[in-house]
Amino acid sequence: MDGADDRPGQMTTPVTALDADAMPSLRCRACGMQYPAQQAPGRCSCGGLLDLDIAVPSGLDRDVFTRRLASHDLLDRSGVWRYREFLVPLPSPVIVTRPEGNTNLYPVPRIAQWAGCAQLWLKHEGENPTGSFKDRGMTVAVSHARWIGARAVACASTGNTSASVAAYAALAGLPAVVFLPEGKITAAKLGQAIAYGARIVQIRGDFDAAMRLVQEASAAFGLYLLNSVNPFRLLGQQTIMFEMLHQLAWDAPDWIVLPGGNLGNTAAFGQALVRAHAAGLIARLPRLATVQAEGAAPFYAAFQRRFTAFSPVQAETIATAIRIGNPVNYERARDAIVATDGVVTAVSDAEILEAKAMIDRAGIGCEPASAAAVAGLRRLISEGVIDAKSNVVAVLTGHVLKDPETIMAMHQTAAEPSPAWVNRPIVVEPTLAALREVLDALA
Ligand SMILES: *Cc1c(COP(=O)(O)O)cnc(C)c1O
Ligand SMILES: [Zn+2]
Repeated sequence: MDGADDRPGQMTTPVTALDADAMPSLRCRACGMQYPAQQAPGRCSCGGLLDLDIAVPSGLDRDVFTRRLASHDLLDRSGVWRYREFLVPLPSPVIVTRPEGNTNLYPVPRIAQWAGCAQLWLKHEGENPTGSFKDRGMTVAVSHARWIGARAVACASTGNTSASVAAYAALAGLPAVVFLPEGKITAAKLGQAIAYGARIVQIRGDFDAAMRLVQEASAAFGLYLLNSVNPFRLLGQQTIMFEMLHQLAWDAPDWIVLPGGNLGNTAAFGQALVRAHAAGLIARLPRLATVQAEGAAPFYAAFQRRFTAFSPVQAETIATAIRIGNPVNYERARDAIVATDGVVTAVSDAEILEAKAMIDRAGIGCEPASAAAVAGLRRLISEGVIDAKSNVVAVLTGHVLKDPETIMAMHQTAAEPSPAWVNRPIVVEPTLAALREVLDALA
């Protein structure tokens, strides 16, 4: 590609902490086979998932992260690369960053009261450059793709991954192919992927069919796979936890609640918390609570069977970002729940929409899949699984503008009586008399 010098995402300042000779290798979870990091991480020849053989940083000075907040270097400004001691030592010229992360952690006492817990924070990953946490994984994985000289990148997506892949591939000057389940993703997400210039392939089938196909296609045609089977993506997503703990001055919360679809975040959060604890950044491990939609809850079913068996399901839910029946990260996510003494639950679409209305009405907003986390928190507190005295962080995974279709549908519901939060736009004559009637009705 020409014009490499003026790409906004390209770093030119060398970062001495990064050393290209020190790249960790990839190791199969199933058979232990090792692969060099110079190749695209698909699956092991035995079919197993590949993990990075990566060390826990030692001798860390917490203040270094805070000092980087005042820097103008893009790698310091990135909420991912700020925590680079936990990442891989890619040479800085290959790194592609927007810079992502830097998402707010909102104290929300009214939502805490509604959910029933003492203290609740919302970590809003919808504030990333393309509107979801996927950007945190993409900055690491797309940079790795450039480092190994990948010709093209690919993913299957329920929407947000494709938007993020399309943006980061464009920044890197790499062609991108995205596989989408036809008719199953929101116009906002599809629009982003189209606008950023990815090749869009719509599959006659669901996300799980698209996921199966892209894994076969990547192996057959040498495409660099950017789904969360890719451990470089999960490494980037670990920084959601590092940044959140940093924002809490390394005073870990009791619980972290998140939605679960392909279960990449569940896996990444577990790994991040264990590493932060081992590195001495936090004194105790918070517990993870993963929340699935009832119609797409194979992980919850496995949890109920104490992880003795796993069966995929045919997925259906209004929360399209977690409409996944055969999550690729099942084994990694299971380890994360076990390591953090975590739990898994499931909530109905009605519970998801009620939680979304609470988060939206608070002036914060999120897409339906993100609201599942808060709906699950409320359920777990009512069941006594999470103690009401707990200090909880819920992770909002995507922006409110990602799914206007659902907003319109939920506020035009014909349900009787309509929920108190329903907010129907009205039409009036352009007269003061008509307006007075409307304003008199305001509480
Ligand atoms: C991708 C995505 C999820 C699912 O995350 P997993 O790591 O696959 O479990 C949840 N919410 C949103 C908004 C997403 O984009
Ligand atoms: Zn193997």
